[in-house]
Amino acid sequence: MTVNQPEPKVANITLRMLLNTITRLMGRRGLRLILSRADRIYYLADMPPENFQLAVPCSTLTRIFNAIEAVGGKRAMRMFMAHAGKDYTEYLWQAIPHVFESMRDTIDRTLTPHGQLRYAVDLLAAAGGQFAEVKVVVEEIDNAIYFTLPYTLDSWGQNAETPICWSMRTSLETQLKRLTNDNIITVREMTCRACGNANCSFQISREESLPLYAERDPLISRSVGGG
Ligand SMILES: [Zn+2]
Repeated sequence: MTVNQPEPKVANITLRMLLNTITRLMGRRGLRLILSRADRIYYLADMPPENFQLAVPCSTLTRIFNAIEAVGGKRAMRMFMAHAGKDYTEYLWQAIPHVFESMRDTIDRTLTPHGQLRYAVDLLAAAGGQFAEVKVVVEEIDNAIYFTLPYTLDSWGQNAETPICWSMRTSLETQLKRLTNDNIITVREMTCRACGNANCSFQISREESLPLYAERDPLISRSVGGG
């Protein structure tokens, strides 16, 4: 992203959910520690409202992600982001059920499982603009579906050697499974803005994946005194 481009903004609800996930995993003291390191301690007393107004600069999220990594390390960061993506998706399904139910109801169940998946991906791509200022492109190459966007909340302003968009990946996977009732959907990030690629591109296919939450959560173990 060039320096002249205005900084994109994300919805208040996105930051609110992120802070809720930090609180759930690390407690109120953990939230204080992270916000303090991110130089955003004022959110402790004044949590962002649960609305979809695009009012939070992306750099606020970047500061918070960097604070989590500074406290817990890269592995903790990855686990945290996966939790955050899943929490956010589940919250949205409860907060605005009519939006997702009407999306789910438009999927033609006589289509093949792949056809239903493609339809669900197109629905999410069209809905994406509600949550952040991004435009999503959907393509199909050799029977795999690619969901591509110029950056994600995970990668904006970040540098990394391997793709890092864990919350986006988990969120996509969780939403697509819910929309299609198809539990073998797997999402992988193939290119990532944080790695110097032109965009973040997620390959979506129908195959069994390893459970994301099977590992012991290092963020929790660290917060109770681990190294
Ligand atoms: Zn990425």
